Amino acid sequence: MLIVPETLIASLVTPEDAFHAVEACFSSMARGEAYNFPVVREALGEGRQYGFKSGLDRAAGQLGVKAGGYFPGNAARGLINHQSSVFLFDPETGRPLAMVGGNLLTALRTAAASALAIDRLARPEAEVLGIVGAGHQAGFQLRAAARVRRFRRVLAWNLHPEMLPRLGAVAAELGLPFEAVALPRMREAEVIVTITSSPAASLMAEHVAPGTHLSCMGTDTRGKQEVEPALVAAATVFADEVAQSVSIGEAQHAVAAGMLDASAIVPIGEVLVGRHPGRRSAQEITLFDGTGVGLQDLAVAAVAAARASERGLGIEVGI
Ligand code: NAD
Repeated sequence: MLIVPETLIASLVTPEDAFHAVEACFSSMARGEAYNFPVVREALGEGRQYGFKSGLDRAAGQLGVKAGGYFPGNAARGLINHQSSVFLFDPETGRPLAMVGGNLLTALRTAAASALAIDRLARPEAEVLGIVGAGHQAGFQLRAAARVRRFRRVLAWNLHPEMLPRLGAVAAELGLPFEAVALPRMREAEVIVTITSSPAASLMAEHVAPGTHLSCMGTDTRGKQEVEPALVAAATVFADEVAQSVSIGEAQHAVAAGMLDASAIVPIGEVLVGRHPGRRSAQEITLFDGTGVGLQDLAVAAVAAARASERGLGIEVGI
């Protein structure tokens, strides 16, 4: 089995690799060749969360699990709060193939899913990007979004405004004018990414103009919420996986309130394989509920393991 440490990932997997890997896995899901196993997520106390996301992609020959969670005490220890590792197994024999550091991969695959949704669902001429959130993931989201549309400026809101300059620095690197705004000014945005750990809606229907595409990426647990249910109900909703969208994703609230029928949620893979047209009009609001599925983790970890193996990197161990 090959161990690929976290420190190698940046040199092995690019945002473009992640984009193509995630596109392939969502397409495999739509064709019925890949499926996610039920998510396990447990509260360990004192704010710590731990869980497993896993699945099988028969087309790609990927079987495995991402084990990880959120450990709020880590920052004080000089570690990042989200910690994860991906384990890949041979789908024919069950033998372990690789253990891959999962922290950067999580950020890359999450930003790739959001960018894929923007690429397929946002209006082609969109020029103004709005970002709600400014934590660890936000910079990855901004970089990935900037790869799929020619944005001319970025508007950002965060509950904790002192975190915004770090996101502004990413915009500056990309050569994009950056403005911290109040939420009502999100009406100027044609694409909005939400990436917070909020327990209650920040972005309301009145903050979003007709024709906007939203990638809602922060809500990945029961009880989190970024967007007003009325906005979700007013949108055409797409998801990485409908089962996760209604249980742990942004749609959980609109569905529980009876404002959205789960059967109306479109797996994004249906768009990728050409079975759903995606956006139907310039006035339609499209919303991608990106909850993060195990197959995304396997897809990017497989890229890392293959590249490491080709280049003679990583550590081979017998097990
Ligand atoms: P972080 O801890 O670095 O940042 C948290 C962000 O949420 C900050 O912008 C903070 O200001 C904001 N926030 C905190 N409390 C808030 C509140 N009450 N109201 C509004 N905003 C609030 O976290 P991160 O690593 O950037 O992750 C952001 C979110 O994305 C988390 O919920 C995380 O679990 C989720 N996530 C989702 C996926 C996925 O695949 N969908 C993958 C990774 C992370």
